[in-house]
Amino acid sequence: MTPARSLLSGPVQYLKGVGPRRAELLEKLGVRSGRDLLYHLPHRYEDATTVDAISSLSPGDDATVIGTVVSKGVIPTRRRLRVFRAVLRDETGHIECAWPGRPWLDRYIAKGDLLLVSGPVRFYHGRQMQPREHTVLERASNGAPREPSETPATSGAIFPVYPATEGLTHRQVRGIVEDNLDALIAEIGRSDPLPQDWRRELSLPPLADALRTLHRPAELAELEPARRRLAFEELFFLQLLHARARARLRLDVPGVAFRGPPRLSAPFLERLPFELTGAQRRVWEEIAADMEREAPMNRLLQGDVGSGKTVIAALAMLKAVESGYQAALMAPTELLAEQHQRTLGELCEPIGVAPLLLTGSVTGKARQYALERVRVGDAPIVVGTHALIQEGVEFATLGLAVIDEQHRFGVEQRRSLRSAGGGSDALVMSATPIPRSLALVVYGDLDLSVIDELPPGRRPVITGVRGPESREAAFEFLGERLAEGRQAYVVYPLIEESEVLDARAATEMYEKLRSRFPAHEVALLHGRMSSAEKDDVMRRFLSGDIALLVATTVIEVGIDVPNATVMLIENAERFGLAQLHQLRGRVGRGAEQSYCVAFHAAGAASERLAAFASTNDGFRLAEEDLRIRGHGDLFGREQHGLAVLRFADLERDRDLLEEARRRARHIVERDLTLSTPAYRALGRELETRYADREALYQVG
Ligand code: ADP
Ligand code: MG
Repeated sequence: MTPARSLLSGPVQYLKGVGPRRAELLEKLGVRSGRDLLYHLPHRYEDATTVDAISSLSPGDDATVIGTVVSKGVIPTRRRLRVFRAVLRDETGHIECAWPGRPWLDRYIAKGDLLLVSGPVRFYHGRQMQPREHTVLERASNGAPREPSETPATSGAIFPVYPATEGLTHRQVRGIVEDNLDALIAEIGRSDPLPQDWRRELSLPPLADALRTLHRPAELAELEPARRRLAFEELFFLQLLHARARARLRLDVPGVAFRGPPRLSAPFLERLPFELTGAQRRVWEEIAADMEREAPMNRLLQGDVGSGKTVIAALAMLKAVESGYQAALMAPTELLAEQHQRTLGELCEPIGVAPLLLTGSVTGKARQYALERVRVGDAPIVVGTHALIQEGVEFATLGLAVIDEQHRFGVEQRRSLRSAGGGSDALVMSATPIPRSLALVVYGDLDLSVIDELPPGRRPVITGVRGPESREAAFEFLGERLAEGRQAYVVYPLIEESEVLDARAATEMYEKLRSRFPAHEVALLHGRMSSAEKDDVMRRFLSGDIALLVATTVIEVGIDVPNATVMLIENAERFGLAQLHQLRGRVGRGAEQSYCVAFHAAGAASERLAAFASTNDGFRLAEEDLRIRGHGDLFGREQHGLAVLRFADLERDRDLLEEARRRARHIVERDLTLSTPAYRALGRELETRYADREALYQVG
């Protein structure tokens, strides 16, 4: 006897009404198996319970109406496009509907049919609707034949609309789902990966019920609990994946408990010229406790530009050193490495620790000497680029790697973190604040420490968002600041398609500003320059030789020039909020009042730019960004592998996310391999969902 074929795990091709051709089209929608079809949920619902009165429609509306077909026909237009038209009437009035290019509808829609249509209303010899959707609710008594795979008149008044693709309409998708839904759901039956008591605690419906509801809601109010059920599941398994990755990391790598007496960190704190902020103190406690544990630390330290991450990094490194280990700080570029070495040097000078710089620019004898000191353990703190680790510099006892990240980084990079740290503790610093919810999803395998407070007495950068009409005034203002001896940036967005166009716009501006400000040194920085040239320009800007820098490449994220007080951003509408905020962070670093002017093209003012001007708080901006753009857009699949959430909404489902994380970590603490009876079902589900992802994490 052969086992019954599983509809859920079998290919979609063999389901009712599919076949090879449609299977190909479904594949484009990401639907390969029966299970995929079951999870191919409507992206919206037409709700006949909230229809619009025809008399109330006006051009520009997007409306849903129900009406009887009073006349219809196919009318050729001048452009030889054949348009099917039907006039619908309800108790309040009538309206013409037009379906350009779909003359064949004439055969399926009859006079007297009751139609539900929805779509935009436009002005065309009066009001006209161009339905996106139509559904025949009732047939005229002498009814026309049914359209192939048309949904039979549904019992409820809510019509699911499915994501479709060319060659497969949403109505055909609906037909296919409708034909197979009962059988697929029957196969799921009572099995449910989530334990029953969890469902009770979180008031989530059983899986089969949730799926049935989402495909065939009787009323709209049922949808949200059903969606939350799938959202929780999605968040939970992702958190379980993260929790396992985190636990494996802690088990696999022999860690160090850094418990040396505070012979460096204590005097360091005493001699700091300022008090740590509350947030810095809290974060330092978290990091210190983590370092004291045997298991290796894998921690993300987030904090806005200027929040004081460097001091924390210094403390962590000193803690490693006083426990008998070396510490390394890695920066994304040589320039930033040099800067870090300088700042750390100043911070640590009072306690007599001098960090060693080891970059590509350290060559010859100096390099040999440096390498030797690192190798014998004579250099307690080493600062360099990522090459420090990649090129296999040999450390006597590397205990802590601090990684200053220029950008958000993806799973792959994080995987190399482990080898980068050489099995030691790792602290990743990021100056791109992201909301906690997003951090839990994207960096869920790391522990999070957040500095959410700026040192006191900072003067916030004054930000203006301006159209082209304010240019002249802004340049005048810029001239005044230069005359006072300040420095400034003018930044152009990168146009990906054309580095040439890019460079041209910036070059023109450079020429213009050079003749406008002949008394000041103006320089140009763009992506077509060699890195040696770029480096040279940056160094001269750092030293103050250059007063005004016109740049296309986004100037290095961490660069610190306290005397720069003006940031002009061209075509600001092309930058993301995070980028804008990063750019603004280049100024406001000294005692002088700083300014940021974001120019947008005519008519390109936006909610995003308004948000940018409204606050200096990077975390608030990140929340705004999430709200405006949605997480899907913020974290595309390519960039962040893990972060594609189909059902969960990081805004709405924060509570579920925290629950998911808590439960996932709790389970993993008890049973990492998910092999006890209580968790076996979860383990199996994790495997079907994330087989590929687990490989990525080298767990599983
Ligand atoms: P980040 O790296 O987070 O952008 P930094 O560590 O470079 O920020 O700190 C920015 C500036 O603020 C530095 O000049 C630093 O010395 C100073 N700073 C850091 N912490 C404090 C504090 N608690 N009080 C006052 N100034 C601080
Ligand atoms: Mg810094």
